[in-house]
Amino acid sequence: MKVGVPRALLYHRYGRFWEEFLAGLGAEVVVSRRTDKVLLQQGLSHVSGEICLPIKIMAGHIEELGGKIDVLFLPRLLWLEDRLYACPKMIGIVDIARMMFDGRLPICAPNIRGSFWWPHFRAGMELCHDPVRVVRALTRARRYIPAHDRAPDFPAGEKRVALLGHFYNLDDDFISRPMVDTLTGHGYRICTKDELPEKVLRNRQGFARKIRWVYERELYNAFRFLVDKVSGVCIIVSMGCGPDSLVAEFMREEAQQRDIPFLQLVIDEHSGTAGIVTRIEAFLELSERRHAGRSKIQDSRLQIGGQAAAA
Ligand code: SF4
Repeated sequence: MKVGVPRALLYHRYGRFWEEFLAGLGAEVVVSRRTDKVLLQQGLSHVSGEICLPIKIMAGHIEELGGKIDVLFLPRLLWLEDRLYACPKMIGIVDIARMMFDGRLPICAPNIRGSFWWPHFRAGMELCHDPVRVVRALTRARRYIPAHDRAPDFPAGEKRVALLGHFYNLDDDFISRPMVDTLTGHGYRICTKDELPEKVLRNRQGFARKIRWVYERELYNAFRFLVDKVSGVCIIVSMGCGPDSLVAEFMREEAQQRDIPFLQLVIDEHSGTAGIVTRIEAFLELSERRHAGRSKIQDSRLQIGGQAAAA
């Protein structure tokens, strides 16, 4: 049986786990190709223009798999521990897939509500009907669940900036390549949230406790952890994403209070590489000055955030 896994959204965190799990069930796993313009165009034809870029990309990946597979594997994450929810658009992607295929393609969509393992066990049973095999497949695959228990080192004198954004944006080259290339091309080490230990990302102290979206809490906690260790903070926000824009605003205020250069890049399918590179270079100039300790940054919001918001 060919089981399709779209290379988008949660794939960028759980993809290796899913591939190993499904292969352990005896399935032939078909992963959609890497994001490109054609695939994005396919996605645009299935969802409203108002929706965020990651969901448009996901729709393209789903479309890409249709016709090549027997079953689409598309877990629906509702909430993880501490009742931290995924955003409604992410939850709704399974319904979008159902509308796209209108019953022509079976969809295996385990609902993750707090427990991660039980829904996967049931999905495994749906696909292979053998409990022993399902347990073995889960046991073998669980080593691919990403886990960091140590914070990275931050050597003195190193030039580094934080590049914050959802893992499905940063891990997708189609979205993040211009940012990553520009930052590293200027000699900066990039610090991201996904290299931080879980205990940092799941911290419930202070404002983080009030954030009820699972991945926004991670973003905010990563910001708090990194803000004093870097020369600047760049955050990638998807156009049309309510949770991102709200949490980014709090980060911006805190960065300003600490005189840390802050760049908010708002992305959608029209974002051009040239515009992104120009903004990052302006941001890096401020970061460079901060790194060198030459001047105090007074208002990065007006100089940088204003430009980005006007994109
Ligand atoms: S959190 Fe934002 S970017 Fe992510 S799926 Fe939801 S609306 Fe889109």
